[in-house]
Amino acid sequence: MDKKKISKIGVLTSGGDSPGMNAAIRAVVRTGNYYGLEVFGIVRGYSGMLDNDIRRLHNRDVANIIQRGGTFLKTARCKEFYEPEGRAIAYENLKRHGIDGLVIIGGDGSFKGAQKFSAEYDIPCIGLPGTIDKDIAGSDVTIGFDTAVNTAVEAIDKIRDTMDAHDRLFIVEVMGRDAGYIALHSGIATGAENILIPETETDIEALITSLTEKERRKKLVNLVVVAEGDKFGGAEEIAKIIRQRIPTADTRVCILGHIQRGGSPTCSDRLIASHMGYYAVESLLVGRNNVMVGVVNNKMHYTPLGKAVKEKQKIGQEWMKIVKILAS
Ligand code: ADP
Repeated sequence: MDKKKISKIGVLTSGGDSPGMNAAIRAVVRTGNYYGLEVFGIVRGYSGMLDNDIRRLHNRDVANIIQRGGTFLKTARCKEFYEPEGRAIAYENLKRHGIDGLVIIGGDGSFKGAQKFSAEYDIPCIGLPGTIDKDIAGSDVTIGFDTAVNTAVEAIDKIRDTMDAHDRLFIVEVMGRDAGYIALHSGIATGAENILIPETETDIEALITSLTEKERRKKLVNLVVVAEGDKFGGAEEIAKIIRQRIPTADTRVCILGHIQRGGSPTCSDRLIASHMGYYAVESLLVGRNNVMVGVVNNKMHYTPLGKAVKEKQKIGQEWMKIVKILAS
């Protein structure tokens, strides 16, 4: 570890937002100030670095935000940051403020950007996994996942009431472009008959057979939870096939969409975000660079940013077996 004295740090939220980002910013700001650092908020992710939209944050600036979804620093996607010229402008702006350490709260795209930036310039970067999808290796938890999955569970419970009243077959689509964690957790927690995720090949024939068999047994209330990134397609595609093959079933679709990103973070997400935010500052102070702060087996864990984005968390086959057994 290259231990260089850090005195001014920047914090930004980048890419897709997730509930708990505010709690993480608050923790970074207050821990930084506790250690006598000057903390700067960078507005709209990497765009703020390019536009020099950077402002000093004091403890009072982050009061009353721990319970809020979204991110008060705003987030954005920034095309220019993909190019070396864009990153050079970002560096110049950071230097203008004397910023010598960065905390990036975001997902795998944001970490790819941070990895490049920290390789090119002498500003250490620490990543915090802010993503509802839990699609990052090196942490058992990510900021926002617990809130998103609880939002999905609450919504699906409501759908279950009405589908039960009408004996309907519902296909509910939840978020997760590359990762099926929201589908898996919310599906198990709501008693879904089938859960379709990007990590496993969807066997549409097996799905039709299982639903047909349930029709025959007069188990008419059937719930299928599908992740938006399932290779076979989303809820609409699945419903189209089911309607053709089981025309007697009253098949409906519900796409939960962006409600999964919003809302007040759960207690668990606030704790994770606070803990990680604190450790992000500690990491900069002890000279860490180019790593993501994560939690593995309830302990803080540091993973090189490159590894965090390259390797996804794996969903164990045992879970899929459990889904089958419990849905019978
Ligand atoms: P997320 O962090 O939620 O995965 P994105 O994939 O949209 O979100 O990434 C957020 C931002 O990170 C992008 O808009 C871009 O500015 C930066 N970024 C993403 N990938 C790269 C990359 N390969 N090189 C440089 N910057 C990147």
